[in-house]
Amino acid sequence: PKRVQPETEKAPVPSSPPLSRQNVKVQPPSPPQIITDATKAMQFRRVGFLGEGGFARVYEVEDARSLRYACKVVTKSSLKTKKAKTKLYAEIKIHRSLEHPNIVQFGDCFEDDENVYMTLELCQSGSLMDMLRRRKRFTEPEARFFVVQLVGACQYMHDHQVIHRDLKLGNIFLDSNMNVKVGDFGLAALIESPGERKKTICGTPNYIAPEVLFDTANGHSFEVDTWSIGVILYTLVVGRPPFQTKDVKTIYKRIRDNQYEFPSDKEVSLEARELIQEILTPDPQQRPSLFDIIDHAFFTQGTVPAYIPSSARDTVPDFR
Ligand code: ADP
Repeated sequence: PKRVQPETEKAPVPSSPPLSRQNVKVQPPSPPQIITDATKAMQFRRVGFLGEGGFARVYEVEDARSLRYACKVVTKSSLKTKKAKTKLYAEIKIHRSLEHPNIVQFGDCFEDDENVYMTLELCQSGSLMDMLRRRKRFTEPEARFFVVQLVGACQYMHDHQVIHRDLKLGNIFLDSNMNVKVGDFGLAALIESPGERKKTICGTPNYIAPEVLFDTANGHSFEVDTWSIGVILYTLVVGRPPFQTKDVKTIYKRIRDNQYEFPSDKEVSLEARELIQEILTPDPQQRPSLFDIIDHAFFTQGTVPAYIPSSARDTVPDFR
């Protein structure tokens, strides 16, 4: 059968001015079999490869007690500029300050001569993006289960003045019990004074809120994460993102014009359509709060499964 690409999760759009670490091709890290810090206090055995992102490689590692983690490795050669270093330190500072059952737990951070290492909670079931590729789309009870946990994580981040700014299926990981773990704080921002607005254009094309692209004078804030939650909910129940097209320019045009529709060949409940439509409100001030989202009929009138069976990684679960 023809392979369909459910969604483009291209590398996040670069902030302006462009960052060297996103534009310069650097040798990917090749960490040693035994990863250790200078003092040898920390020792991990590399046991597998999990994936790679824009500038990092992620390995599965095991400590002396046989506990498994994910280990994100960044080569120091990709951190030559002050800006690249500042970005990585910001990611580490924000991520390590967070502790929530639905956020990938930050473990340790250390370095050797070649690389910087970050150990993270291992998410055995991959990302929601991987799962969508296999499943094509999700049932509404599953979408409720994932989005309730995502909103919980988001509420916690916002309470701690953190905007994630890159919420998307590829950054929502699942542990062995199919619980949501939000990860990748590479574009996260800390709001340091009430009312502060962020001006950096960043995110991933399909998920970017209109104010990030088109209200650069005013800037953006927490509501950009709410917008992404709307895009995620649509993508879960429809199988592809709402503003998806071949080229990024057209995606932005559609976001600007709030132009998306529900395909006629896929059944999506009225409640789901209504909630998605409310969340995808162009004016960030008019967008529902995270509490409003969870209080919507889509959640209050529908079933939220107590758990998702791991068989759901590949096949539709039967909740009856
Ligand atoms: P980048 O910030 O460079 O995009 P990511 O943090 O997105 O890097 O990680 C790249 C890939 O590594 C992910 O797509 C995923 O496959 C894998 N990965 C990242 N974190 C974890 C984790 N905690 N558990 C399991 N796999 C992970």
